[in-house]
Amino acid sequence: EAQSAYTQHVNPQWVRLLNLLEMNAEYVRCRGEKLETADGRTILDFLSGYCVYNAGHNHPHIVEALYAELGRCGPSMLQSHVAASAGELAEQLCRRAGGRLNKAYFCSSGSEGVETAIKFSRAFTGRSGLLAARGAFHGLSCGALALMDNGFWSEGFGPLIPGVEFVPFGDLAALERRLAAKKHAALILEPIQGEGGILVPGREYLEGAQQLCRRCGTLLVIDEVQTGLWRTGRFLAGHHYGLDPDMVILAKALSGGLVPVGAVLMTDDIYDSVYGSLRRAIVHTSTYSESGLAMRAGLATLEVLEQERMGERALAFGEVFRQRLREVCSKYEMVAEVRGMGFFTGIAFKAPKSLGLRLSYEAFHRIHPAMFGQMLVMRMYCDHGVLTQICGNDFSVLKAAPPLNAEEESLDHFVRAIDNVLDLVHS
Ligand code: PMP
Repeated sequence: EAQSAYTQHVNPQWVRLLNLLEMNAEYVRCRGEKLETADGRTILDFLSGYCVYNAGHNHPHIVEALYAELGRCGPSMLQSHVAASAGELAEQLCRRAGGRLNKAYFCSSGSEGVETAIKFSRAFTGRSGLLAARGAFHGLSCGALALMDNGFWSEGFGPLIPGVEFVPFGDLAALERRLAAKKHAALILEPIQGEGGILVPGREYLEGAQQLCRRCGTLLVIDEVQTGLWRTGRFLAGHHYGLDPDMVILAKALSGGLVPVGAVLMTDDIYDSVYGSLRRAIVHTSTYSESGLAMRAGLATLEVLEQERMGERALAFGEVFRQRLREVCSKYEMVAEVRGMGFFTGIAFKAPKSLGLRLSYEAFHRIHPAMFGQMLVMRMYCDHGVLTQICGNDFSVLKAAPPLNAEEESLDHFVRAIDNVLDLVHS
């Protein structure tokens, strides 16, 4: 009944797609990486809502913090009010982010964070140009869409914001050529491309990008919406590279997955370029931006991720997990690479010469480029109770991004499941 109301009033195509993939279920209780369905199955979440559930589903510490905030009966947000919890969360985030990041603007999503970064970088530099990487994913609002070269997401929604140019991800020489024009307000990069295929760049690329940006007066904006909050083992993925960017965008995992939240960390100077005078104190705001629930959830999430040393866990177990995946995948010629960092792993496939199925790989590809990957996703879910997905901008990469507190047994289960599914389809 609930499903038919959803079909009528929300998104019928989504229901059709999930039914087609046999991946429709009603989830009744979720904890850690385990999702219980109404019909008594347990599904292991290796998607984490696209890197939202770093602390697992419904972590009791975060849930209790939210109950406490509701029980306070204070104003969750009033606008004409200085929110102490927002100050506290900003301080905690800036301290952990380090470098020159000393101010935080709060919002309610990753896309909103990207819009904020666009506005602030233009205001600060007085330039309008923007540079983004091919294959990036930054969100589906008009500004964020303009930073993505995959037309699938933007078709029919234009004109988007003008002034954006693209450079291949990882190509420092191309970046240098573009930046030389000295007309770009910002270069916006994911430190590790998520939807682009879990692409981990070399140290010299990100370090070089930072140096070039500084030399050319372009701000370096790092989108850590998926990679932040210890997903890759460190608080920010940029910390693996020693980055000191001008802005960092956070969202998703920041509230433990329970309340919408986003944050843009930036330097004092950039912040002041927008809010620098009394007259402009409210020039960039958003109704729910400092909602008490979001701020308390953020503080509790930081506490729990740190107290339970989830970053260290992701670093240690992530590497073992990828090693075990490489071992089982070495049997299959269709696996090109297993790559990633922390609990952010991608299994990249190449077109196999043939498949042990009646359809060839080419036939799958002709029906829809995502067909082969979706078949793997479906088999993982239906046969092994593992929820995963292919990357949004590279359908040949399967993602494994479980909560950072996922049990070792669940990681082992994933490895056995992928072995079994690949065995089923290989010739
Ligand atoms: N940046 C990145 C790297 C993302 O992966 C996403 C969402 N998948 C976004 C931004 C947009 O975030 P939101 O969906 O919260 O707007």
